[in-house]
Amino acid sequence: MTGTSIAEIKCEKCKSVFETQVIEHIDLSEDREIIKALKIGKANRVQCPKCKKVMYLDRSIVVNFEPENRIVVYDPKATTEEAKATFQTDYESIIAFNEILQEIGAETEFSVFSNLDDLKTLLEEYEKAHS
Ligand SMILES: [Zn+2]
Repeated sequence: MTGTSIAEIKCEKCKSVFETQVIEHIDLSEDREIIKALKIGKANRVQCPKCKKVMYLDRSIVVNFEPENRIVVYDPKATTEEAKATFQTDYESIIAFNEILQEIGAETEFSVFSNLDDLKTLLEEYEKAHS
């Protein structure tokens, strides 16, 4: 399932502020079409309703590599070890909520990428393995 939320965006061109749906979570087993956009860092495409300017948001996206036990947070802004560690801590606090999640968490490889090339490599491997 692709998880979305509503976010407030400021247009780069005309500076007007508008609300739009953004992608937060992607399950690759259910949405293969998105891989192409993800590989070029353009999964979150929004258009300004006023001036029609198209923008690609560099927000973080959680990518679930189902059926592989792998979850990747891609965030182009998480370039420091500290930022990456924050995601790791968040993830651990989420799975600590209940036993089922803890079991899944123990079997899942969790990583945080800020470099698009790293994500791209994994996506290509995934496509090869599950085509
Ligand atoms: Zn605009």
